[in-house]
Amino acid sequence: MIMGILDSKSPTGPLAEKWTKHKNDINLVNPANKRNIDIIVVGTGLAGGSAAATLAELGYNVKTFCYQDSPRRAHSIAAQGGINAAKNYQGDGDSNYRLFYDTIKGGDYRAREANVYRLAEVSGNIIDQCVAQGVPFAREYGGLLDNRSFGGVLVSRTFYAKGQTGQQLLLGAYAAMNRQIHRGKIQSYTRHEMMDLVLVDGKARGIIARDLVSGEIERHSAHAVVLATGGYGNVFYLSTNAMGSNVMAAWRAHRKGAFFANPCYTQIHPTCIPVSGDHQSKLTLMSESLRNDGRIWVPKKLEDAVAVREGRLKPVEIPEGDRDYYLERRYPAFGNLVPRDVASRAAKERCDAGFGVNRTGEAVFLDFASAIARYGREKAMISGIADPDPETVTKLGEAVIEAKYGNLFQMYEKIVDEDPYKTPMMIYPAVHYTMGGLWVDYNLQTTIPGCYAAGEANFSDHGANRLGASALMQGLADGYFVLPYTIGDYLSKDIRTGKIPTDSPEFEEAENQVRGRMQKLMSGTGIHSVDHYHKKLGKIMWDKCGMARNAKGLEEAIKEIAALRKDFWENVKVTGTLDSKNQELEKAGRVADFLELGELFAKDALHRNESCGGHFREEYQTEDGEALRDDDNFRYVGAWEYMGEPRDAKLHKEELVFENIELKTRSYK
Ligand SMILES: Cc1cc2nc3c(=O)[nH]c(=O)nc-3n(C[C@H](O)[C@H](O)[C@H](O)COP(=O)(O)OP(=O)(O)OC[C@H]3O[C@@H](n4cnc5c(N)ncnc54)[C@H](O)[C@@H]3O)c2cc1C
Repeated sequence: MIMGILDSKSPTGPLAEKWTKHKNDINLVNPANKRNIDIIVVGTGLAGGSAAATLAELGYNVKTFCYQDSPRRAHSIAAQGGINAAKNYQGDGDSNYRLFYDTIKGGDYRAREANVYRLAEVSGNIIDQCVAQGVPFAREYGGLLDNRSFGGVLVSRTFYAKGQTGQQLLLGAYAAMNRQIHRGKIQSYTRHEMMDLVLVDGKARGIIARDLVSGEIERHSAHAVVLATGGYGNVFYLSTNAMGSNVMAAWRAHRKGAFFANPCYTQIHPTCIPVSGDHQSKLTLMSESLRNDGRIWVPKKLEDAVAVREGRLKPVEIPEGDRDYYLERRYPAFGNLVPRDVASRAAKERCDAGFGVNRTGEAVFLDFASAIARYGREKAMISGIADPDPETVTKLGEAVIEAKYGNLFQMYEKIVDEDPYKTPMMIYPAVHYTMGGLWVDYNLQTTIPGCYAAGEANFSDHGANRLGASALMQGLADGYFVLPYTIGDYLSKDIRTGKIPTDSPEFEEAENQVRGRMQKLMSGTGIHSVDHYHKKLGKIMWDKCGMARNAKGLEEAIKEIAALRKDFWENVKVTGTLDSKNQELEKAGRVADFLELGELFAKDALHRNESCGGHFREEYQTEDGEALRDDDNFRYVGAWEYMGEPRDAKLHKEELVFENIELKTRSYK
């Protein structure tokens, strides 16, 4: 494994002045010249939608691509809990520095200081932008925007729209896009999948896309290509991601020279509806916002846990003294609002010790009884009801909980068929988000000139663990406030280039490669479906690269995934035809890439001989089971260069320098 060193291009100077200085220093493209420049934005979720709308508003000619039938259906729409911003509306001591500090610490000191500070700096602008678009954030009685708390922080800085924050933000971005579509500044290609990136003279100059309805292969050129294609959590098969979320665009760029950073950094979210059986293809998140009011517990006594599992004892029958609120016990300072990696591991620890509460022993309780009582009493007092009876308190309290989380409670009831107002929810950790992704410099440019990555698709600002409500913040920061500036610096050299032709040998070759790959996928005479392989891959990933990893398991995973990939190419059966709508073929292309990424993921996890954030190597833990970092040897971003097979990938390092924050053992106690 040969190593190279990567330059982040972070500006020099004091942390709080870097972004302003950078904006002052970089080149601009004048408005008349912008009209002659084309930009492709692949992905129209929050990151891509916001980038496309802003770039078009600036005057560039934008083409957008998404595989859904509308940008409105991007996975971003699923985001529930909220979006962070350091507005300090609550007057509880928030500041740009605190948001920066919380994010770096939350990510277990594995993120780039300059990027994270910039994120905090522009966070407030995002809220203003979205309010101006009409995003209906929750408001307090007096009309001011409301906030709640998310994990790993001691302030309330999360702006939200009930449990539908992503949906409302996406409607805002989509409305902004629509304005540009009607102005003719955005050409929107829906039901189109990017199949490859086209490089001309070493620069990203276009993509090969497939029209998913007609099956036609198309060439599209531009002066720069932005990939905002989301995360790759579905490499685990079961995750909270949308079924279509995949790594294809990022992986195709990786194969063309874009380094893939920290692939093993995955977020396992602690509050998801537990797996119910082999038939499942999707897991459901119960938003982290619920941890503002829900208390997490398991029975203190093993016999109670067994009785609950066997249906002989109801959770509400377990007296208060026999409940183990293990997060409050272990982490008194942050309690139920510890970061996700910490909460997930703690749930696993209790379940592994035999205290799990569902049939499979892989669930803990999330209980709202105390919150209902607390809110009910408060409401009664406000309403002038002296000495309310318990039924009145419960009724009033449930109404408050319903106003805050109604849609989440309804979703839970529909899926589990239990009323979470009356009995605690059952939850368990599940794959949710990927902190790894395409390596980008401070300008969000990948290692391919002219190829940019935004949102969850880049290796992001979250280090080894993302704090709740920070993905929306980062995606929109990238799209509305960062990329529109930084891409201009690159494009300023292209003002005389003219249109990029699509009849060049480079486009020809890329198209032929795409066709060849698809023909190969279709030509299999095997017996197994694409899902068969995806499920098998997911099982290896979950068992050996999941919440806890060790060298032996990772070595096995590498071999098993390589063997599964070989089997896939020999034995997969893809039905339908090449030149028509064919969802089986779409899946096959995506799973083929997951089968490569999965191996690189395991290789990355194996090489990182430390535990940090969501990357928990069993060999490296403190006495009380916390992640044990090795700052001397692993204080770097690991970015992999494609060399043919995942096993041959070459590691490049970006050393992480901490000048504004003291490197400490992360503690939430
Ligand atoms: C259930 C759930 C709840 C969440 N809640 C929150 C929350 O409350 N707060 C928070 O901050 N974060 C939350 N997150 C995380 C957050 O939603 C995502 O990280 C974020 O929305 C990703 O946005 P994105 O724009 O980067 O990608 P996405 O929204 O995933 O969009 C990807 C886009 O790329 C397109 N695409 C992908 N591949 C191709 C291709 N090959 N060709 C063409 N188009 C392609 C897709 O069509 C889509 O338009 C949640 C995540 C989940 C799963």
